[in-house]
Order: sequence, then structure tokens, then C-alpha cells
Amino acid sequence: MEVSRHPTSCGIKNLYPLLLNAILDDRVLLVKKWEGRVGAKEIEVCESMEMARTVLLSASPQAQHFMVLYNLYYTPAKIASWGKTMGIMCPRCGCPNADLCHMFFQCVKLKSLITGISDILKKILKQTIYLTPQMVLLGVDHAVYNSRDRYFLFIAMSVFRSCIASLWRDVEPPRFNQWFSRLLSMYHLENSLYELKGAAAGKRLTRVWAPFSAWLSGPREYVN
Ligand SMILES: [Zn+2]
Repeated sequence: MEVSRHPTSCGIKNLYPLLLNAILDDRVLLVKKWEGRVGAKEIEVCESMEMARTVLLSASPQAQHFMVLYNLYYTPAKIASWGKTMGIMCPRCGCPNADLCHMFFQCVKLKSLITGISDILKKILKQTIYLTPQMVLLGVDHAVYNSRDRYFLFIAMSVFRSCIASLWRDVEPPRFNQWFSRLLSMYHLENSLYELKGAAAGKRLTRVWAPFSAWLSGPREYVN
């Protein structure tokens, strides 16, 4: 029997396809829900699922993607739908019935973070970036970006969602530096994982992180 040199990374790699296969029958319903929430088309929902499987290497962002995709977060709107209405509101702005879209994008308290991220993404990708609810929640917007930039945006949005999720009940929203530090950590972690996987995987790393690597190695303003 062949023994993997890296059993943990192999286990992680297999987790997401298993989850997706388990819920394959729900896909039509899932697409309809996302069309209703953010106007996403079937191709975009499917691409989001595929990119979570192929672009994200670590288990934690994959699990977090699954939580968003299946609306498993305890949003104020979800709790209110169970009949609990007293004191159920967005912890940041006090909006009642705050849904997934509100908690990850529409909340007024997230505005400066989202603007900061858009600005830095514009510098990294050398084009104007319009973050939309679909882009933030699913990580994809098929009409706008080429495939190389879509990879990086998918990762950047995954890191953004993990920042929100980790401070779910905090009154203060995550700060820009928290997002950037997490993105940088993910870059270094994935560098290490790809190095373990060998040269072929290294080419993939170059492709997925190319815009960020180029920006990091070039002259840039101090990020604060
Ligand atoms: Zn809010």
C-alpha cells in the first residue's frame, strides 16, 4: 500500500468533494436560492463550488465557503425566522432581520473595510474592482474578470469572509489590517503546501497567486 508522505493535506484535499457529492441533488434548489439572493447565475454558483474545491487548499476556508453556500450561519434574519424576535439584530449597526447579504456586505459598518479592500485589489490587479454581494459571498463574478484574476479574487473574498465570520458577534467590524494579515498568512501557508506537492503544483501556485506575488515584490505604499 502506498503511504502518503503528507496524510493531512491528502485528507483535506478529499474533504470538499465528499461534501459536494453528498448534496449534489440539492444543486438546482441551491442555484435558485443564490439567484434570489444576489442574482447569481447557475454557471457562477457552480464555478464558486469548483473553485472552493480546486483553489482553496486548506480545510478551514473550504468549510467556511460551505457554510456561506448553504446559508448555515446564524444570521439575525435566520434566528428571527425561528420566531425569536427580541434583540435579534446586526451587532454592528442594529439592523433587524439582517441576512447573509447584510452580515457580509451591506452593513453600513463594513463600508470602510470594503472600500479599503477594493482599493488595494485595484492596485494588485491593476484594474478597477467593484465588489458586489455576489463577489463577496460567492467569490466569483463571471462577466468581469479573466481567469487568472478570478482565482486571486476568489481567495481574497474567502479571506474577507473568514474575517467577518471570526468576529461574528463583535460590535466593531474587522479592520483592514486583519484582512491583509490573513491574506498574507494564507499566501505563505499555500506557498509551503505547494512546495510539498512538487514542481507541477508550483506552476499552479504561480498562476493563482501571480498578481499578489508581483505586487508584493514591487515598489508599493506601506499598507496600514
Ligand atoms: Zn449591520
